[in-house]
Amino acid sequence: MGYQPHPPLSEFLRRLPKTETHLHIEGALPWELLNTMDPGRFPHPPESWEDGYRFKSFAQFETALLDMAFAWFTSPERYHEAARKIFDRLHKEENVHYIETSFASGMIEFVGLDGEAVAEAIKAAAPPGIPVRVFMGIHHDGYTERSRPFIEDSLHWDSLDGLDLHGTETTPLEPWTAGVWRRARESGKQTKAHAGEFNGPEFVWQVVEELGVMRIEHGVRSIESPKLVRHLADIGAVLDVCPISNIKLGVVERMSDHPVRDLMREGVTCTLSTDDPISFGNTLTEEYTALYQDLGCSFRELGQLAANGFRHAIDGRDNFSGKLDEIEQLVAEFENRE
Ligand SMILES: [Zn+2]
Repeated sequence: MGYQPHPPLSEFLRRLPKTETHLHIEGALPWELLNTMDPGRFPHPPESWEDGYRFKSFAQFETALLDMAFAWFTSPERYHEAARKIFDRLHKEENVHYIETSFASGMIEFVGLDGEAVAEAIKAAAPPGIPVRVFMGIHHDGYTERSRPFIEDSLHWDSLDGLDLHGTETTPLEPWTAGVWRRARESGKQTKAHAGEFNGPEFVWQVVEELGVMRIEHGVRSIESPKLVRHLADIGAVLDVCPISNIKLGVVERMSDHPVRDLMREGVTCTLSTDDPISFGNTLTEEYTALYQDLGCSFRELGQLAANGFRHAIDGRDNFSGKLDEIEQLVAEFENRE
């Protein structure tokens, strides 16, 4: 995307400690790995990296992403190799100090991989001192005859930190879901759900009330219901928001219409992430830049988004008190320059 930060924003974003908490590992596959592996089939980055590109549908987006993902993710070792590059880049180039990522149970099922080995391989790719928390994403219809044994087993994998509800949002929620999400929490796992992206507020209500999640991936269409917005603020739910993804998938038409700033002003806790950079061609710095340039977010609001990622980390805010102090000082320094 064409979001280039200029001074003083560029310096602020370079120094701002950040988190990335909504990142699909398959959707974050570094382009150069595909290109080096098979330059004939993957000669140049996908056209969806272009600024004005819009996916026609979620199905088209998913098909294009899976075409790339299936070519690479054929073993736990491949997950490890990709994850190392992804995490190193986030840490070194984007000043990221805490990561939550998910892998797709569908990949485990279709490729026939050992899910626990994949979770371990991703976790082992964490750069020194950077906590990485790993989730398994399950589609609305992903609890199949074939996947059920490893999904049930996964609730006891030490390397897995939680479950995330993935996939086509408009496919109805099936009766197994609430039980699996509840048992995951009983086993000490965290639970998330993608909602409020293609479905409206009613589906956000459903994942909060039926699945008991407090962590919602996207959730931006909650803005359509003031009652829901108040509820999310009251219960302290967290929305892991990815604005560039929302634009390219047509969830929001223009960045200047994106509801993240309004949600924050209504007291809803939001964080900022990239979702699937191999499809959108986006970076975390561009996400922050977009909010500054097109939504008029202040340095304090950008700092708030980054701080929320640390405050609501699974590892607990106490482990990141140094980062929170650093953000506060940085914001104080830059507020004078606005
Ligand atoms: Zn996502």
